Amino acid sequence: MDDVNPPKFGIARTDEVTELPSVRKLQRSDGITWATTLAQVLADTFGAPEGVTENLEHVSNLVSLLLDEVRLHPLPSFVVHARPKGSFTINPVFFAATMASHRAERLIQAVELAAGALDALESGALQLSAVAARALFELAVVCEDLHQPMLEPWRKIHGSVARVHAAANSANCETFNLVWTVRNGTRYYPDDHGWEHATSVLSRLDRFSKRYTAARDIYDMLCDATHPNIESHATLWRTQYADIGEVHGIRFEPGRSNSKIKLYIVEAIRLSLSMIIPFLRDLWWVAADVTNMCNVTPNDHTVLLGLPARAKRNELCSCNSGQVTRVCTHPEPEGLFKQ
Ligand SMILES: [Zn+2]
Repeated sequence: MDDVNPPKFGIARTDEVTELPSVRKLQRSDGITWATTLAQVLADTFGAPEGVTENLEHVSNLVSLLLDEVRLHPLPSFVVHARPKGSFTINPVFFAATMASHRAERLIQAVELAAGALDALESGALQLSAVAARALFELAVVCEDLHQPMLEPWRKIHGSVARVHAAANSANCETFNLVWTVRNGTRYYPDDHGWEHATSVLSRLDRFSKRYTAARDIYDMLCDATHPNIESHATLWRTQYADIGEVHGIRFEPGRSNSKIKLYIVEAIRLSLSMIIPFLRDLWWVAADVTNMCNVTPNDHTVLLGLPARAKRNELCSCNSGQVTRVCTHPEPEGLFKQ
């Protein structure tokens, strides 16, 4: 049997990214798991139902899986710059670089927002935590809304060199166009500049809520804490009431609030990561399917762009199947998640 050699390119860049403060926060240096920490945080919550901790192991596992994604593949030093549609030619490197760019962006966004939400939650800065959790949830809803529509057409292309070649050199590949449109969508720059128009996150949330009915309730609560509405200042209260003369009061306790927003934050983080991680894996899968089937081999450009270039015959395949390149069929990653 031939030796299996791990790919040697791009390692240094990933090491750099693992030193990001948000990655270190998620890793925790104290050896205490997020499940244990969150159990302590949520134990001091007003109205927390029995069994509230049952999903905390799931949160811990998802954070570990997110950190695995950071280390698993070389991250790009350069991503594809946005530009109006029609001003570029699509070829396999450009196609794969767009997928790898978007994966890297969504991965680091998820890391930064999850780390911010968890860190602020642990320290008692609940409004800050809710703002980060809401942004993470919006990120997840956008990824989820794009995920199956971009995946279904690729499943039909996958498995044939001719089909992958044609798609990776075409301006009409649905998978590419959907990713391009979402990645470059804006609600700020005017349409006549040639940019893509971003779909409102609420439209995407409505679609998701039909499959997961609790989503709207979680989102509305996070919004109420983000906006200057009652839940934003309730993040500073504890449920201890007293009549102060003629005034019925509630304890003002910044940093020690027992607001139920904590429950919503944790559930938003859990739900968000369970949607984002499979999306990241499938972006990598499509990129690797293109570079392997179109025979894009490692060079200076593929390293800078963080591409899953085609490894040597007896090296592990860059699609992450665990098989060596010469026998690998680049199978679709398995879905592992509950919601
Ligand atoms: Zn493969």
